[in-house]
Amino acid sequence: DLTPVRRALISVSDKEGIVDFAKRLAASGVDLISTGGTAKALRDAGLAVSDVSDITEFPEMMDGRIKTLHPRVHGGLLALRDDAGHKKSMEDHKIDGIDLLVVNLYPFEATVAKGAEFADCIENIDIGGPAMIRAAAKNHRFVGVVTDPADYETVLTEVEKDGGLKDNTKRHLAAKAFAKTAAYDSAISGWFATQNGDAFPKNYTLAGRLDNVLRYGENPHQQAAFYHSGVSARPGVATARQIQGKELSYNNLNDTDAAYELIGEFDQSKPAVAIIKHANPCGVATADDAISAYEAALRCDPVSAFGGIVALNQKLTGPLAEKIVKVFTEVVIAPDADDDAIAVFAAKKNLRLLLAGGIPAPDTAGQIIKPLAGGFLVQSRDNKVISANDLKVVTKRKPTDQELADMLFAFKVAKHVKSNAIVYAKDGATVGVGAGQMSRLDSSRIAARKAIDAAEACGAAKPLTDASVVASDAFFPFADGLLAAAEAGATAVIQPGGSIRDEDVIAAADEAGLAMVFTGVRHFRH
Ligand code: 5GP
Repeated sequence: DLTPVRRALISVSDKEGIVDFAKRLAASGVDLISTGGTAKALRDAGLAVSDVSDITEFPEMMDGRIKTLHPRVHGGLLALRDDAGHKKSMEDHKIDGIDLLVVNLYPFEATVAKGAEFADCIENIDIGGPAMIRAAAKNHRFVGVVTDPADYETVLTEVEKDGGLKDNTKRHLAAKAFAKTAAYDSAISGWFATQNGDAFPKNYTLAGRLDNVLRYGENPHQQAAFYHSGVSARPGVATARQIQGKELSYNNLNDTDAAYELIGEFDQSKPAVAIIKHANPCGVATADDAISAYEAALRCDPVSAFGGIVALNQKLTGPLAEKIVKVFTEVVIAPDADDDAIAVFAAKKNLRLLLAGGIPAPDTAGQIIKPLAGGFLVQSRDNKVISANDLKVVTKRKPTDQELADMLFAFKVAKHVKSNAIVYAKDGATVGVGAGQMSRLDSSRIAARKAIDAAEACGAAKPLTDASVVASDAFFPFADGLLAAAEAGATAVIQPGGSIRDEDVIAAADEAGLAMVFTGVRHFRH
């Protein structure tokens, strides 16, 4: 199960590491063939190299568009060495077998990323490279194909030891090679779609690269893996460094993402803390200092916070870490942490600490994907950010400044709560969250009920919703949900508006002495 490697074709744009690699191949008795630039680099290093143009008996031409596109190259890559007909063709047409192909492609993505002109991007579409990679990968029984410098060492080890590559190695290299050309073409087609002004490419290919295979998925009988698009992504779970703790699970990643996207809504000039369970917040607060914010977030629903995820929009410090470790917490994510905080967490071996390096901006454009049977839906991110200027007061009573601040806060949180979402807030902290109910009235009641429990837990005389404000992610279709909120103690309401019964709802609000504002923006999250 081993093909000897006698002849290698090397054609690389990124020449990093190629000289050392080629030297060791040559030392193992492998003949080298190369295209112009690569051949020059190898020759400059003192290696003996044949030019592809000597083998094809054609010059490289048309600014390099045509270098390796020739039967002497593709025949050498594609010929089945154990097939009499193929062997005869090789003899008839003076085709020698190529046993190892080493290619990396024209830097199309990097060219686009640096903002190059259309024509320059087009010129950086590699044609011969992908053709050779696909040919070699198809014929992996006989040919090894190296498309990633990370594989140079593996290949050398086998060639130096056995004079060839194992079948298993060649198959793995082939799979990687097709992944490479598929990603390359999807980058090109995605770029073309943008150039043509299409919001969505004809073929949606996920840009994710396999980060790691997870222990299991949402449940232990499900398999799962984490893919992400790499270092350029928004700060978050994909870019974060894990400082300590157990391996991140599927649910951890999902919940931590929800936590960090929520925390991104708040300006870093003021500390904000979110505690998340099952991708919904069970407490969010802003305060003048991070410890007060954490305590206020925890007060909202201390029972649910057990086993939760804590996200912070500030550098984590030792004193806050001391507070956090008092409650069983799965993951803590922050832009950064000081040495004291890291030392405090070190005593809690299982607790996962992630440092994301920054905060994701809530108004960034992007696309999100939702799977459904046999396909998926794609939409742009909900990157709408509401400010005081967007609000329209619809009741007789105008909100006070404090109500206004709390309403904007509550509406930001509601954007990150599964619909139907009802969020009560007071003094910059949530005091009741109703999530994911099929009726808005139920969400309103659940949130109010939780505020009664939370009050009992902290010994408060009145429900935490007393003299609070309430946010709804979508309009109240009837007055009932709004009246339930008033009964729970809400004095002001923020909601999108736009129901055919808005007038009834406004009349009910006026009757109850509530102040109400419309945002004109809905934040469904299903
Ligand atoms: P070199 O620097 O050796 O002149 O060129 C190496 C690059 O050329 C590699 O990125 C390889 O994928 C690409 N390449 C090889 N053959 C062809 C070809 O026939 N046409 C085009 N467009 N690119 C090629």
